[in-house]
Order: sequence, then C-alpha cells, then structure tokens
Amino acid sequence: MGRRYYCEYCDKTFIDVLEARKKHLQSAHHIKQKNLHYEQCKEPAVILREELLKTPCRRFFQHGSCQFEGNCKYTHYSPEQLCELRQRVEQMEISRQRKEDAQKQIPLLESWLEKYERSIKKTDSQIVHTPWTYPEMLEYRSDLPASLIKFRPEHFHDDNFEEWGK
Ligand SMILES: [Zn+2]
Ligand SMILES: [Zn+2]
Repeated sequence: MGRRYYCEYCDKTFIDVLEARKKHLQSAHHIKQKNLHYEQCKEPAVILREELLKTPCRRFFQHGSCQFEGNCKYTHYSPEQLCELRQRVEQMEISRQRKEDAQKQIPLLESWLEKYERSIKKTDSQIVHTPWTYPEMLEYRSDLPASLIKFRPEHFHDDNFEEWGK
C-alpha cells in the first residue's frame, strides 16, 4: 500500500496517487467543503457585504435546502438573519472603536516623563512639584474616598511624625 492522502476539508483519506488526488481536488464535493471552511473563517463584516449583494435563493427558501449551500450565488440568509448579522457587525465595530479610543487616551510614558523633567527644571529644586494636576471636577465632590480628596494645608494637623504609623 502506498502513502495515503488526508483531505482536511472533507475529512477523507485515500491512496495518494497523483490521478486520485487531482480527481479529488477537482470534485464538486471537495470544492464545496473547502468553500464552506473559508466561509466559516470569514469576518462577519465580509459575509454581510457579500450577502447583501446577492438576491435570495428561491430553491433554499422554497424547499428548505439548496445543493450549493455556502457556495450558492444566491443568499441563504433570511432578512431577519441579515438584520441580526448587521447588528453583530455594528456591535463589533463599536467595541473595536472603543478599544481604539481607549488606547489613544493613555499617554505614552515618554510624554509623561518629558513633562516631569520640564516641571523639575522650571521650578526651584527645593519645592517638590507634582507634574500632574488635580482634576477640577473632583474638587467639590463630597462622595470621594479619603485617598482621592484633594489635599489642603488645613488637612495637615498632625505633625508628630514619630507617632505616625503606630
Ligand atoms: Zn477534499
Ligand atoms: Zn442556494
């Protein structure tokens, strides 16, 4: 017995001779399986774009099945399914956009360090300046945890450092 050829798309094994392989790779069944496989890997947005260009498959909607399956030149998606697909694509687009925006909002470490360096050079080295500013919108809120409340000199009433941490 010679080597065997395994076709992943069709989940089928046969003796690997050129003639048999050629025949298999050109068979309608194999081409269909292969197309179905790539159909499943496609982005929903790509499927939607393609399906919207097709007219409904009469055979599929009248008889409930169509021999061409995912390979049909007409669409097997009902209006409801297309609508669902569109919603899914839109949801994906929104979350992709959100992710992108979130990434834009995080400043680079370099830019922060630059700002920090500048603020040190500019000021008297005796005074420690923070390179960030307290968000104004938090200043007058009364529901903040202690760690987020803006520090004011009048909050500083215990200068007995030796007692701290006891
Ligand atoms: Zn095959
Ligand atoms: Zn069809």
